[in-house]
Amino acid sequence: MISPSSSSSDRTTSRKSADRAEPSADRTETPRATHPRLRAALETFPPYIPGNPPKTVEGLRPYKLSSNENHLAPLPAVLETMAAHAVNPAQYPDDSALALRRGLAARLGVGIDELIVTAGASELLVALTQITSDASTEAIYPWPSFEMYPQTTGLAGAGRIEVPNRPDGSHDLDAMAAAITDRTRLIFLCSPNNPTGPALDDRELRDFLAEVPDDVLVALDEAYWEFVTAEGAARGLDIWADHPNVVLLRTFSKAHGLAGLRVGYAVAREPIISGLLKAVIPFGVTALSQAAALTSLEHWDEVLERAALIAATRDDFAQALRAQGWEVPQAQGNFVWLPLGELSAAFEDACVEQSVAVRNLEHGVRISIGEQPGLDRVLDIAAAFRAEHFG
Ligand SMILES: *Cc1c(COP(=O)(O)O)cnc(C)c1O
Repeated sequence: MISPSSSSSDRTTSRKSADRAEPSADRTETPRATHPRLRAALETFPPYIPGNPPKTVEGLRPYKLSSNENHLAPLPAVLETMAAHAVNPAQYPDDSALALRRGLAARLGVGIDELIVTAGASELLVALTQITSDASTEAIYPWPSFEMYPQTTGLAGAGRIEVPNRPDGSHDLDAMAAAITDRTRLIFLCSPNNPTGPALDDRELRDFLAEVPDDVLVALDEAYWEFVTAEGAARGLDIWADHPNVVLLRTFSKAHGLAGLRVGYAVAREPIISGLLKAVIPFGVTALSQAAALTSLEHWDEVLERAALIAATRDDFAQALRAQGWEVPQAQGNFVWLPLGELSAAFEDACVEQSVAVRNLEHGVRISIGEQPGLDRVLDIAAAFRAEHFG
């Protein structure tokens, strides 16, 4: 019989702590170098860097204008749905997101089987690259554009053909068409383009698509389509209806204001949908997220009204910057681009000092549309910056 003596319990204690101590002692005292053979492709592209939070500055209210988030309060109905679905986490969600796809199909006038729901449009960008690209292929995308394009195509080991935007920040579709080779399998288009702002023109896009071989997949990224107001802008659904090789990408992150819930979707045809279903993560979108997205969809008119408000604020903000003398490209998302080139970091620093986070993307600075006092502060910073740097 083991007696509960103090020595025995001491032994137990010391053995336990020794068990715990050993591996960590091993790690700290004799660090073993690790040389896993990671893919060489990892060296060819930078990681995705999210927008910074604002720096705390005494006496100043902070504004985060660095991630193109929706600054308006969430729709009450969406919050109610989220509360109602925060109950049983033991069960897997509906992998096929059937209810949400039904809702989307009805809204968009496409078939249920022409929709796939994923963990943000980000997951779609990965999956689309996976099903088209490897080291023997090339992908074409505009630049600057969404930072995930170099990431997903780089990870696949594909040749990355970055086509510089035109000076006005719009895609150079002629140059993109000229870049197509026998190896091209994937083209990304972003309308409106994050971060520069312009939306694709319908006529120009159709002319471009007429040049693209029909075995090349064209991913039309419409993350910000709800904010588009420009006349003659391409409407993704119409484009998709006329071009079988086009995949339409959309998200609940921006206009719907649900970035934290991670819901995106694609509209596509077979065999693209079946291919995507093989490439995405099973159960990637939680039941709560699916339900919240569906509720938001049921309040589609309100979502579009709010997007229109943000678009109007955007137009005023862009106009105020132009009045200061800045060359601001057509802004069609919920953000405005200042093509500052080498002065980008200095401008970002000026904002940081005033407790405003903006996004420095090297070619320029992207400012998300947020609350008016934050935008007003940016206007003051921009005016002072002009006086200092452009006299
Ligand atoms: C935000 C964004 C996405 C996707 O965002 P998710 O939150 O993953 O849905 C896709 N494309 C562009 C251009 C974006 O700005």
